[in-house]
Amino acid sequence: MPVYEFICEKCKKRFTLTLSLSEYEKKKFACPKCKSSKVRQQISTFQTVTPKKS
Ligand SMILES: [Zn+2]
Repeated sequence: MPVYEFICEKCKKRFTLTLSLSEYEKKKFACPKCKSSKVRQQISTFQTVTPKKS
């Protein structure tokens, strides 16, 4: 299952969640620290790697 990275907008804690697609589509994410649902998804670094042309 893919790992999604989030940052809490309330306490600024970064956390990762392993979610199945159905869980992800429900968008029921909450900060494990303060239980806030005001979380923002971060783009995983390995997904933003730009291909290098050599
Ligand atoms: Zn939080």
